[in-house]
Amino acid sequence: MTDYKMIIDGKGVSTDETFPVLNPATEEVVAQCPKANEEHVNLAVAAARRAFPAWSATADSERSRVVHAIADALEAHSEELVKLLTLEQGKPAGGFAGLGGGFEMGGTVAWCHATADLELPVEVIQDNDEARIEVHRKPLGVVGSITPWNFPLLIAIWHTMPALRSGNTVVIKPSEFTPLTTLRAAEIINELLPPGVFNIITGDGSLGAAISSHPDINKMVFTGSTPTGKKIMQSAAVNLKRVTLELGGNDAAIVLPDTDVEAMAPKIFATAMMNNGQTCAALKRLYVHEDIYEDMCQALAAIASSVTTGDGSGDVDFGPIQNKAQFDRVCELAEEAKASGARFLTGGEVSDGPGYFYPVTIVADIADDTRLVSEEPFGPILPILKFSDVEDALRRANDSNNGLGGSVWSSDVQVATELASRLECGTAWVNSHAMIQPDAPFGGVKESGIGVEFGRYGLEEYTSIQTLNIARG
Ligand code: NDP
Repeated sequence: MTDYKMIIDGKGVSTDETFPVLNPATEEVVAQCPKANEEHVNLAVAAARRAFPAWSATADSERSRVVHAIADALEAHSEELVKLLTLEQGKPAGGFAGLGGGFEMGGTVAWCHATADLELPVEVIQDNDEARIEVHRKPLGVVGSITPWNFPLLIAIWHTMPALRSGNTVVIKPSEFTPLTTLRAAEIINELLPPGVFNIITGDGSLGAAISSHPDINKMVFTGSTPTGKKIMQSAAVNLKRVTLELGGNDAAIVLPDTDVEAMAPKIFATAMMNNGQTCAALKRLYVHEDIYEDMCQALAAIASSVTTGDGSGDVDFGPIQNKAQFDRVCELAEEAKASGARFLTGGEVSDGPGYFYPVTIVADIADDTRLVSEEPFGPILPILKFSDVEDALRRANDSNNGLGGSVWSSDVQVATELASRLECGTAWVNSHAMIQPDAPFGGVKESGIGVEFGRYGLEEYTSIQTLNIARG
């Protein structure tokens, strides 16, 4: 079993106590991971704090060069990192629509390069005889990052590369379910950075709260559940930390009656099931007009029946659900839906273990108040709901505390665009869903989060404004 180390102040750190990391396809322990305590948190934050003055004063062009170099170094280790991803997360390298570990690795490299190329130019507000007023963007200090288990590498990059690019230093804590890929990536990243700029600690239980309440951390970036996001916001108040919170989604899609079912069903299926449904902005509630309801149900069921689920190290479309708690949650929501009389077109039955495998499941004729609809299942199961009136569909789509993404599907792009703009969500798509890219801001409204990631808007969240007012005359 490989000996994994945390990195604090540029040095590998082991701990007496460890915790096991499981392969979700076999439930076997694949590694022991260091279990940090509060003292490690303090050491990591102190190292990041010491490294901040020099890193924030480093030339912008040099920080851009380093982030590009990180992309190249991670790419050079692609094969190893993708293997680790499959081992601890479960996703196959390719998978359905190529959205497995290969996608995550490719996205990692692409996001690094795109972030390296971002700029935060000085804005001149006024320049006349009275004064010159400039708006500067300054790094915040130490950024604390807590990342989830669905995309352990990609989300670590989303959190930390903008932080580094804009001159902050970092303490990252990956999910206790998937720490290995992030630990290895942190090792590679550290070879390119001064000690203390990028620190990583691992553990389970109480580390998150110790980080989010730490008085020497200036900003928290978190991707995960809404309840934990709320706790982070509460503890961030201790020193008025800035927060970027990317939380749960229960994205609705409205399919209008003129939609080409045959052409759009594969796209709808892919976006609902991406990463085995364990994606914050996956399509999770599908509202289909009654005229094409049965056709769409059958088209999606046919695709679901044609895909394979199994150990991600083999040639399969989908791997297991990442952890037991999530697997149990999907099973529970499915059983409740069954008991409510919903029609299961595919899946819905699990076979004996080992492994947290849940079949790709399509559910029709389900009521809005079933928990499978009103709550985020975060697994490979899609409820399809019927509507006859578009305004009613819009009301039902918006009737949620979540507001991450949403979409409208139609042959009439103008009608779909107008309707999409009335969805209460951070990103509204037309004839697609969950399509993200490094230069388009992405974030949630309502209880799906605060702030955005990606592009210039995302980068700005790692800075504060300093207005420079130079009087003349
Ligand atoms: P959580 O969202 O609860 O996050 C767990 C992480 O948060 C751990 O790293 C934990 O660290 C940390 N944490 C816990 N309490 C605090 C606190 N008070 N302050 C700071 N950090 C804290 O993850 P789960 O795995 O329990 O997932 C639950 C649900 O979240 C899923 O069912 C899914 O719906 C959603 N989810 C959403 C994701 C997304 O992409 N938006 C990704 C993954 C899950 P520690 O234990 O050390 O404190």
